[in-house]
Amino acid sequence: MRSLCALALGSIALAGTFLTPAPLAAPPGSHPAPAPRPRVAGPSLGGGAPSARAADVVLRGGAVYTMDAVRSWAESVAIRKDTIVYAGPDSGVAPYLGPRTKVVNLNGRMVLPAFQDSHIHPISGGISHRQCALYDFKTKEDYVGAVTRYAQQHPEALWIRGDGWSLAAFAPSGVPDRKLLDAVVPDRPVYLESSDGHSAWVNSKALSIAKVDKETPDPPGGRIDRDPKTGEPLGGLQDSAMDLVVRHAPPYTPEERREGLRFALKMLNGFGITSYQDASVQTESLEAYRALDEKGELTMRVVASQWWERDKGEEQIPGFIEARRRYTRGRVRATTVKIMQDGVMEVQTAAMIEPYKGKPGVRGLTMVEPEALKKYVTRLDKEGFQVHFHAIGDAAIRECLDAVEAARRANGARDSRHHISHIEIFHPADIPRFRALGVVANFQPLWAYADDYIVKLTLPFLEPERARWLYPIGSLYRSGAVVAFGSDWSVSSANPLEEIETAVTRMGALGDTKEPFIPEERIDLPEALAAFTINAAYVNFQNDKTGSIEPGKLADLIVLDHNLFNVRPEAISDAKVVLTLLGGQPVHGDFSLAGNTEGGLGMSR
Ligand SMILES: [Zn+2]
Repeated sequence: MRSLCALALGSIALAGTFLTPAPLAAPPGSHPAPAPRPRVAGPSLGGGAPSARAADVVLRGGAVYTMDAVRSWAESVAIRKDTIVYAGPDSGVAPYLGPRTKVVNLNGRMVLPAFQDSHIHPISGGISHRQCALYDFKTKEDYVGAVTRYAQQHPEALWIRGDGWSLAAFAPSGVPDRKLLDAVVPDRPVYLESSDGHSAWVNSKALSIAKVDKETPDPPGGRIDRDPKTGEPLGGLQDSAMDLVVRHAPPYTPEERREGLRFALKMLNGFGITSYQDASVQTESLEAYRALDEKGELTMRVVASQWWERDKGEEQIPGFIEARRRYTRGRVRATTVKIMQDGVMEVQTAAMIEPYKGKPGVRGLTMVEPEALKKYVTRLDKEGFQVHFHAIGDAAIRECLDAVEAARRANGARDSRHHISHIEIFHPADIPRFRALGVVANFQPLWAYADDYIVKLTLPFLEPERARWLYPIGSLYRSGAVVAFGSDWSVSSANPLEEIETAVTRMGALGDTKEPFIPEERIDLPEALAAFTINAAYVNFQNDKTGSIEPGKLADLIVLDHNLFNVRPEAISDAKVVLTLLGGQPVHGDFSLAGNTEGGLGMSR
């Protein structure tokens, strides 16, 4: 595992250099602190004979929150090639200024390490934003209107495909109705995925093409929503039942995948993201990554989680090993395997220790039989894979922890950095197990407030004493576990500043709620920033090269128009990223920082 990571991160020799701290600010009246020796040897980019220390770029006069171990602040950052060579007070940067150094005056703007997203679906998200996108609508009437318009504008489309409807529009059941679609598109199949990707809303034409009717049994790990009296499908398909229909749709082409990825990269760089973990890849996605990387278009460091097919077993592991070997190069590392262990709370498919309130005997879906899961995880751990779990219900979380425990017992404690994402509802006894087992708690903090999903579709099915343990981010931090954040885009916004705001406030980042949800689980701003930078870098096995602004690390950093420590927590998400550097190169904005000045942003709300 470690060697693969080192291989993937390329040619820069950095060993150990990042351990040297940035110089401290000189006390008043003393001589300036001596500048550190350059930490990375390399030829100067400029001609002539500039100072051997000269940087290519110096950012100065900023509020640089370095995210180093003591969370120190700096004013200047010097970059040579793709590497940070200095981070410290302005007074220490002079030795890095050469005749060809580009100097950027930050005028007090904030600098952070670039964000890293620990769980995201960039290719499918990008594709879905290019088809019938429903993300911006809220009601079923709006959805039907959008589908009608899309169908009219795309007479050539054999299938009408789209994404982004909310289960909350169909509260309290969360189950959509095929007849609404039949009324506007009777003659072509319609297949629309919910914003969380766990449900599909289809019309009758799609069901008939797939030959799904009242006789069709529910597939393992899935559910066909049915009329309780007649058994007829209603138009909702849950989890693996979605495949019954979608496998009849024409597959996406390689060009559609690449275009989807390009869409996502541009958006994510704009949000200050330069690394992520793709939460689900198969060969086609790995090919898209490789294609863009070979063209120099992959403006992202990517860890790819290879998708575990749950109707298969250990026989798929050699394929993962082969894909890891073949696709781990350049900016891509296919070093993780993703196992989905349950469904979601809103339609009661999340696996629960006790039945859902008011639903006797209903405990959700366990995707991989727990004893088999132990066996698979033990084998993957031994083969040097990181395992990335999807677990939402308390039973699923426990089963994943049990599997890691079994792997530890068999293989000893390895530096595997297994992580469980989503982790919506806990049995409190499992909270300390994350630290004890070295499992990273990978939260999607934008879900941790009282939105419709929580209020209409989750709380009605949980007793209050269980609901207390929804998204206990603060408790996980206090337990000593490593906490990392991801967006799960296109399920929810990919803007880390929205997620950070909600982690700090437990309220909607767009002002949509006024009361904090389980306020004792709030965390502070430094913790929230760490979860999107250095801790996410840890999940991605690159905290030795990224995740903080320290000499020797890669110059993946961002400039914000506002210092997040100077705005009210409710205004964090109003800040904008004005410059994103990946290895010292702008991938969003430019060094002019044009059109963005420090002002009274967000103070009025
Ligand atoms: Zn996901």
